[in-house]
Amino acid sequence: MLIGAHVSQSGGLAKAVQRGVDRGCQAIQVFNQSPRMWRPTAYGEDDFAAFREAMDASPLDAVLIHAVYLLNCASEDPEIRDKSLASLIQSLRVGAGIGAAGVVLHPGSAKQGDVEKAIERAGAVIREALAESERCPLHLEDTAGAGGTLGRSFAELARLVEAAGGDRRIGVCLDSCHLLASGYDVRTPDALRDVLKECDRLLGRRRLASLHLNDSQAQLGSNRDRHAVLGEGELGERGCAVFLSEPRFEKLPCVLETGTDSGAPSSEDVAHAFKLRRRGKASRSRTASRKSKRSPSRGRSR
Ligand SMILES: [Zn+2]
Ligand SMILES: [Zn+2]
Repeated sequence: MLIGAHVSQSGGLAKAVQRGVDRGCQAIQVFNQSPRMWRPTAYGEDDFAAFREAMDASPLDAVLIHAVYLLNCASEDPEIRDKSLASLIQSLRVGAGIGAAGVVLHPGSAKQGDVEKAIERAGAVIREALAESERCPLHLEDTAGAGGTLGRSFAELARLVEAAGGDRRIGVCLDSCHLLASGYDVRTPDALRDVLKECDRLLGRRRLASLHLNDSQAQLGSNRDRHAVLGEGELGERGCAVFLSEPRFEKLPCVLETGTDSGAPSSEDVAHAFKLRRRGKASRSRTASRKSKRSPSRGRSR
């Protein structure tokens, strides 16, 4: 697992690399433009080259782009739809320019309307954005399920992938807080394994592409998206340690989006994640050796 944090891109994309290094990250996530405005930042080839150079010279191994929250690819309003499409294409182009592992996207919201129709609309926008861009993967993020947001279950994510044409560039980003809030218990190794089995069954094994690690202020199945600092929410230190040590997540970028630096992740928060990962791994290997002692013949089975 490549542990890291969402960092600010202000002052230029390349600046984000140093912020990641300062926080002890192995991976970073950035917005490709100011998150509160539709206006895209006009990055050029020089910016991309500067970013790639800074990455190459750093210990960072992966960068994710988060599309801004204004987007609603499922909107019925043609103006919002067109703006969302243009912004998503821009995110994917920046992603290609900086060699991002993917653009993370909240799939959209049906608002009060029909969910299936909203999925079709979102799928059409995603399909078009992929056709208008090259290379960069798109990661659909699972959502907490509040207020008509799409992607609250693996079944809904699978429908979105299908509606978007099933392109190989489409993956999923799993957010620990959203999983819990949408009713998936991920706080013990066994529970998380079952959740991932369900994810595999409905989405296929190769779609799992990136991770967000946030603790959750809201309870299991509450459908409320309220991030908490690691260890201070419903996942708790134990649940976060389980998530961080999941063998299936081994090669994936996993970024913190919430922390103790005025709400943003600090170097202490990232260090905390590394510590919890070690704790999770130690606990899993203790359990494994206990199990193999109990039934030596089955010790090596998986
Ligand atoms: Zn997230
Ligand atoms: Zn969230």
